[in-house]
Amino acid sequence: MNQIVFPSSQIEALNLIGGEWVKGSAEAIEVHSPYSGKVVGTTYCASSDQVDQAILKAKSASSAWGKTPLKERTQIMFKFREILLRDIDKISNIVALENGKLLAEAKAGIFKGIEVLEYAISLQNLDSGSKMEVSRGVQCEYRREPLGVVASITPFNFPAMVPMWTIPIALTLGNSYVWKPSEKTPLTATLIGEALIEAGLPAGVLTILNGTVDCVNGIIDHKDVSAVGFVGSSKIAKIVYARTTALGKRALCLGGAKNHIILLPDADPTMAGTGIADSFTGCAGQRCMAASVLLAVGDVEKQIESIVERAKSTSLGDKMGAIITKEQHDFLNSAIERAKQAGAKVLLDGRDAQKPSNYEGGYWLGPTILDGVTVDSEASKVELFGPIISIIRCENISKAIEIENANEYGNAASVFTSNGGLAEMVASQAKAGMVGINIGVPVPREPFSFGGINDSKFGYGDITGEHSLNFWSNVKKVTTKWQMQNDHNWMS
Ligand code: NAD
Repeated sequence: MNQIVFPSSQIEALNLIGGEWVKGSAEAIEVHSPYSGKVVGTTYCASSDQVDQAILKAKSASSAWGKTPLKERTQIMFKFREILLRDIDKISNIVALENGKLLAEAKAGIFKGIEVLEYAISLQNLDSGSKMEVSRGVQCEYRREPLGVVASITPFNFPAMVPMWTIPIALTLGNSYVWKPSEKTPLTATLIGEALIEAGLPAGVLTILNGTVDCVNGIIDHKDVSAVGFVGSSKIAKIVYARTTALGKRALCLGGAKNHIILLPDADPTMAGTGIADSFTGCAGQRCMAASVLLAVGDVEKQIESIVERAKSTSLGDKMGAIITKEQHDFLNSAIERAKQAGAKVLLDGRDAQKPSNYEGGYWLGPTILDGVTVDSEASKVELFGPIISIIRCENISKAIEIENANEYGNAASVFTSNGGLAEMVASQAKAGMVGINIGVPVPREPFSFGGINDSKFGYGDITGEHSLNFWSNVKKVTTKWQMQNDHNWMS
């Protein structure tokens, strides 16, 4: 049962500066629940002075935190995990309330965040460095060191999970972390901040700054911020990447997506129906891993029927959540109309779906399936970010792979088939960072890292897993000799 609890009064999203919750003195932005369209809170944006002061405090906290032994920092992360598990229902409710997703989806996102936290907790055992005698009497070793103050800018679509991709790893590695949540979903950040304070994180090690463009620019430009992680649309990812790297700082900016699924005639209809429908309807299509183009190869009518049936049964409010804003809702409605005008056949029209009776004012759109979409149309190329899938008919698998390869993004691609050879062909030829075989949402689970390629990611490495460690730290190489050796040479 998807029963969201609305707060009795509006929630304030404050800024966490030097361990204190402070009202931002720049603009105030209303937070609407996509369920009802009603205002449920306010984002109090930090002024440029507050951004500056906050980062100075983060900087002064970073020194002691960075020198705290890894095993001691890890104890705070253990406690953080316990608090998240204890409060998971409360946090899920706020995620669902401000984002519009189902409670079950909100909870699943927090569990995925906890997996990253568990990975961070295990660094004390996994990442002990290495040391060897590289020449007689000469030892060389790796030492991982924190960067100081690092920052992260996050999107609306996973208010807890996406921040949790970076918070546990960056903090465990000894950095002070400055977080700018989406102004559309800032309420969850308060709960995560409170959980870390309760876990014993020293004041100033976590900073939360609310705001939009000016706040992000203030963070990037601040001389004490050494690295910026970003997750959001490709347009903004590119801007943030360019601004950060122009200052000589490291940046890893994950962008948007247009994920393709290749459907072959030998695919199991039930597996395909469930996997593909759940991929484009989950979180109302507002996932960077959601399927949005179906490359239907040959006669796949049975499988498409199964997708339509599954999507039809995805009732709003119970099996599918809402769209983030009225503007985005209006955009999706008009995009469906434009696709229809461009000649697509609407196999399932989400505009006709029944809204949940208790949330009439919300931003609801049912699953939508467009068939016969042409390769160059908006529905084929643009990231719509809603529960809409565009079917492009392809005469063979090579044509399907060619279309997938030509798209500018590169987050995920999947294939549904019962033929191992064809599956391998797609896995090796798809131009995407994450590939699924009979999986609609091929999100790698820990310890496998998360990240796309092409316009889905600007910067080197992935945002989680092993690859993220070098992003959030410096690796120092220390070479030591204590005694003169007889065979001293230029290498020793
Ligand atoms: P967005 O790009 O609009 O916003 C992301 C963040 O950037 C927010 O915190 C926002 O306040 C800030 N921002 C907005 N405009 C800015 C500007 N001009 N300069 C600096 N900062 C700015 O993204 P969104 O709508 O919140 O999230 C949806 C997008 O995120 C989709 O494109 C989705 O695919 C993508 N996404 C990608 C991944 C991934 O792993 N690749 C994960 C989640 C979401």
